[in-house]
Amino acid sequence: MLKVVIQSVFALKNGLSRRGIVRNYSYDSMVNSIKNYFALRAGVTPPYNHVCQVGDPVLRLQAEPVDLETIPTPEFQKFIEHLIAVMRNYDAYGLAASQIGVPLQVFVIETSEKNYEENLKTTSAGQPLEIVPLRVFINPKMKIIDYKIFTYPEACVSICGFAAHVPRAKSIRIDAFDVSGKPFVWNAVGWPARIAQHEMDHLQGKLYTDKMDPKTLSCVVWDLVNFKEGKLAMDYRPHTRSKFRSFFYT
Ligand SMILES: [Zn+2]
Repeated sequence: MLKVVIQSVFALKNGLSRRGIVRNYSYDSMVNSIKNYFALRAGVTPPYNHVCQVGDPVLRLQAEPVDLETIPTPEFQKFIEHLIAVMRNYDAYGLAASQIGVPLQVFVIETSEKNYEENLKTTSAGQPLEIVPLRVFINPKMKIIDYKIFTYPEACVSICGFAAHVPRAKSIRIDAFDVSGKPFVWNAVGWPARIAQHEMDHLQGKLYTDKMDPKTLSCVVWDLVNFKEGKLAMDYRPHTRSKFRSFFYT
């Protein structure tokens, strides 16, 4: 049924746009309506088990602060556990709540010993890494401590398949609340500071592509596309143990 509808939409688009009758806006609205209809019928609602992709309006929202009284509730604790689980399923180094469809001021970061050792075997990131223990940030406020800029490759599980060089400040400080609702101060330099700045951007509806050096934007498998003569498919499910894992880190 879905296939028939989509085929009909494409036929409609091709036919009508050849005649110059339909504007792109009308076509996009129609496709979105169909997608939303089937998503709702399938009962797919946030928080998702998958990561939203660029173009999803939720990734451009200013995240709302969490009411501190809700932090101890079983529902919120379950949500935090889910956010951590999705981050780990994607082998990401960080994940913001908006990336699973919930525009709240929450993000998690972690670079496990396993991920650290795996990434040492690659040259993709090109920057010194370090192990970062799991940490939950609720209602975080960031202050840049050292404005010296470092530019390294960066990617995002919400922009699957691409990477670019992104300038980030060397050192930051974050004031936030932890998963038990207690305030804490977190100082970071280098790698963890980069991840946290990326996640802080998510909370403001910004993506790394807003700050990247545009000339460095690359498909992370452009050479494989040539080798395989284009016979490659993108999978938006978790990339656990994927050989491309090192490119998808925040
Ligand atoms: Zn991201």
